[in-house]
Amino acid sequence: MKLTVIGSSSSGNCYVIQSDTEAIILEAGIGLDKAKKVLGFNVSKVNACLITHAHGDHAGKAADYEKTFPTYTLEHVIEAKGLKRSTAVYPMKKFTAGRFTILPFRAQHDVPCVGYLISHPDIGKLMFLTDSFLCEYSFKGVNHILVECNYSDKALQEAIDAGKTHAAMRTRLMTTHMELRTCCKVINNQDLSDVHNIVLLHLSMHNSDRTEMLTTVKQLTGQSVTIATPGLEFEISNNPF
Ligand SMILES: [Zn+2]
Repeated sequence: MKLTVIGSSSSGNCYVIQSDTEAIILEAGIGLDKAKKVLGFNVSKVNACLITHAHGDHAGKAADYEKTFPTYTLEHVIEAKGLKRSTAVYPMKKFTAGRFTILPFRAQHDVPCVGYLISHPDIGKLMFLTDSFLCEYSFKGVNHILVECNYSDKALQEAIDAGKTHAAMRTRLMTTHMELRTCCKVINNQDLSDVHNIVLLHLSMHNSDRTEMLTTVKQLTGQSVTIATPGLEFEISNNPF
């Protein structure tokens, strides 16, 4: 299957994983038209759209998405966004959508939030976690890790010193978003024996440094990594070769 990043930042998040006949969408934070275009306008093949939490950059377009795709999210998001057709998910309650098996798991943000562990015969096991300042889970046999790496302490301090970021932001970030070293720990807490892809999500515009993130994650985990940028596309399969 192919993964396409439509957006991965505070200005809007959306990812599509698809083959010719099946698809799953992660997040509904970008206009529906862009998702439809990436799908080649074949909207009927979409098995599920999964939303992590109610913030606008993840769920801002949920009302449009749920009219087009089978949409799954927390009850909190359904209430907060006035959704009518979405199905509620609960942490650690597994469900299936087509050939996808999906396990929502608790994330740590300033509103109720979940990550998703997604299994499919063609892609293996994919961990998706964004907008969480830590992760309490270690998953076995993950093949693809898509995890938030929002800021680094070093880049944040430089942004504060340069007047680009308010000093009070540090406290907020510590209890909402994932710092670079925490991200490395979260990756290292997973079973990495069969991991094929690590993708860093949702980098902050001012408080992150791409080179620092790529080199640090590579150094601390021994894994090669990619940063999610709009338009990025790559094959994901359960076979590393
Ligand atoms: Zn958020």
